[in-house]
Amino acid sequence: MSPPLTDARSAALYAEALKVLPGGVNSPVRAMRAIGRDPLFVERGEGAEIVDADGNRYIDYVCSWGPLIHGHAHPEVVAAISAAAARGTSFGAPTAGEVELAEEVAARFPSVEMVRMTSSGTEASMSALRLARAATGREKVLKFAGAYHGHVDGLLAEAGSGLATQGIPASPGVPAAATAATVIVPWNDPQALRAAVAEHGDRLAAIVAEPYPANMGVVLPREGFLALLREQADASGALLILDEVISGFRVARGGAQAREQIRPDLTIMGKVLGGGLPAAAYAGPRALMEQIAPAGDVYQAGTLSGNPLAVAAGLATLRLLDGDAYDRLEATTTALAAGLRDGAAAAGRTVEVVDVPGLLTVFFREGPVRDYADAAASDRDAHAAWCRALLAHGVYPPPSQFEAWFPSLAHDDAVVRRTLDAAAAAFQETAP
Ligand SMILES: *Cc1c(COP(=O)(O)O)cnc(C)c1O
Repeated sequence: MSPPLTDARSAALYAEALKVLPGGVNSPVRAMRAIGRDPLFVERGEGAEIVDADGNRYIDYVCSWGPLIHGHAHPEVVAAISAAAARGTSFGAPTAGEVELAEEVAARFPSVEMVRMTSSGTEASMSALRLARAATGREKVLKFAGAYHGHVDGLLAEAGSGLATQGIPASPGVPAAATAATVIVPWNDPQALRAAVAEHGDRLAAIVAEPYPANMGVVLPREGFLALLREQADASGALLILDEVISGFRVARGGAQAREQIRPDLTIMGKVLGGGLPAAAYAGPRALMEQIAPAGDVYQAGTLSGNPLAVAAGLATLRLLDGDAYDRLEATTTALAAGLRDGAAAAGRTVEVVDVPGLLTVFFREGPVRDYADAAASDRDAHAAWCRALLAHGVYPPPSQFEAWFPSLAHDDAVVRRTLDAAAAAFQETAP
């Protein structure tokens, strides 16, 4: 676990990238600005590890931000992709694999009878909202502060704290009209939720939530909060849309909705579903899903939707996810979380480690962390310093306080031990 000898090649690639890619990257969080350094360019991945352009090796806890639940280049996933590619990469006509994948999803999610695939989670949530608006004849959508549902205009809205506020665009270029129909409520605040539903309920098409929010760091729902979402949706006639792009197929066979015994009207899926290739979906009962064209008149389409390579990768990935796999992923996550708490304590550091199977966040603050405001009050400089030290010890963490770690099934006991040694050293080295 030697520190990087050099990042000269990554630095040179970054300099070139800055000339032709905005900010040098194709998705902002890769830039590592939040931890005060330049990005590392990845050359290849093997199981739990990645190797950068300078030949440095890291234990990877980003794992493509969630899709790689079996780690990098799992032989069965690679074989499935290769076999599919040899038969042709895309047809613009249906293939058997799409039916098999939809059947596999429906078998895992009791709330799902039918599936419509897209190429990204963003498209899936945009399309789920369109369907919810069409099905209810209403326009407003309630989302939670700090929740991410892709870069859909209407959902790129933040809010002040306190009671529900009308959405204000969080990015230039998002028209005020696009977020005017968005109502934002702090996560885990039953009173604010009730107040917002009381005010907007008769115009509310959907309540959309990540059941285990993981885009403000992992912030678990408090006891009864998910049940309250279901209750408030029912009381107002809104649909409940659970965004399980991260949690689906990861925290349990049937996602967070299975663990928490909550039945949504629609589910948004992605990440693990595509096994590392671009695939996502929205899914639900036949009566809703058959409103989508061509069964119904809610239009939505995609040139590469249900792409044969992505479907093959997704099917191979899901077929490897049996009960034993979920037990192992849970044991790995629990061991990591416990070891991270111990490492911090040994260095006299105050952190709050939040974990569910397959996901964890180390917040640099006291617990509990209940909502976005709590997460945002973490010591981000301390987090950044710790992340830079982890990289120097050969561990590649998600480079933001507001992201989850994604351990995979390739992260075995030895990898966990090496991670915890590195983390303990990083806690010590960066202690104030
Ligand atoms: C990643 C993510 C999305 C967006 O998916 P993309 O494929 O990146 O468009 C939506 N919702 C959640 C919860 C996510 O984590």
